Amino acid sequence: MASDPIERPVVELEGVSRRFGATLALDNVNVRVPEGVVFGLVGTNGAGKTTLIKHVMGQLRAVRGKVSVFGLDPATHPTEVLSRIGYLSETGELPEWMRVHELLRFMRGFYPAWDESYADSLLTTFELSRDTKVGELSKGQRARLGLTLALAPRPRLIVLDEPSSGLDPLVRRDILRAIIRTIAEEGRTVVFSSHLLDEVERVADRVAIIDRGSIIQNDDLTSLKASFHRVVVRFDAPVRDRPTIDGCFNWQGSERQWSAYYRGASQDVEEKIRRSGAEVIDRQAPTLAEIFLALVDSRHSDIESPA
Ligand code: ATP
Repeated sequence: MASDPIERPVVELEGVSRRFGATLALDNVNVRVPEGVVFGLVGTNGAGKTTLIKHVMGQLRAVRGKVSVFGLDPATHPTEVLSRIGYLSETGELPEWMRVHELLRFMRGFYPAWDESYADSLLTTFELSRDTKVGELSKGQRARLGLTLALAPRPRLIVLDEPSSGLDPLVRRDILRAIIRTIAEEGRTVVFSSHLLDEVERVADRVAIIDRGSIIQNDDLTSLKASFHRVVVRFDAPVRDRPTIDGCFNWQGSERQWSAYYRGASQDVEEKIRRSGAEVIDRQAPTLAEIFLALVDSRHSDIESPA
């Protein structure tokens, strides 16, 4: 069957594993990012986000598995692939001695589609002066400049590793969101990693949760949110240890009142809760942050994990 061109992935990782000594940083990772999608990658510190992004950028070669970006291996075709990517790295190294306008002019040489007027408008939005030396910029101003450099080439793919670190809440909430959504509406693709779950929830179309090198969830945000449920449960008497009820993969709470997390159909699980003598007193759609915490906590405390 001919593949739908809209569904053809811009980024694809198939069975990618990566080990650093005893640490399995990526464990059989499969990810597809179709064109025009905003893909948010979330995980705790050391979960493997930067390692995954470095494979997309060809900075790390897949030891096991296959990476393809625009249909090419970024490690063996760096020029073709990187000229189509705007990239903001986690560390955001920039040449300290250059002035902002000199750095922009230097970067322009690498990108045929560099958009000078867009670069200017981003500098204005980010309140950056063209004459300031990079070394004199504050952490937040450097983050803003890093974003300008990633966006001004008007690349087909934008890869942002922790774009929010260093940005103040205003830029994070309003400007970053506006920029990322505009990019997606223009049919370009965004891959970004973040610890800020509320930000990911506002911006991303698809979300992958990575934990200890494994992708434990990878779905469009709406389906992901619709498949998880949280109920508030009241027990007759204080419960000291986390309750265990078949179907619930995580519990948060204390004494008589607990929140139970489960996925799938509600009737079965709630019936089991009631049969255990407890009462379901509220039902709420969990936020992405709550789903993330419940999933990661369940894996880390070795409680029954959802299939
Ligand atoms: P953070 O949110 O803290 O930036 P992350 O999710 O980006 O974390 P990675 O930087 O991908 O995590 O690291 C994943 C694991 O691989 C960690 O245990 C890290 O210590 C290890 N690791 C990453 N790069 C290297 C390296 N070059 N040498 C050795 N270990 C590494």
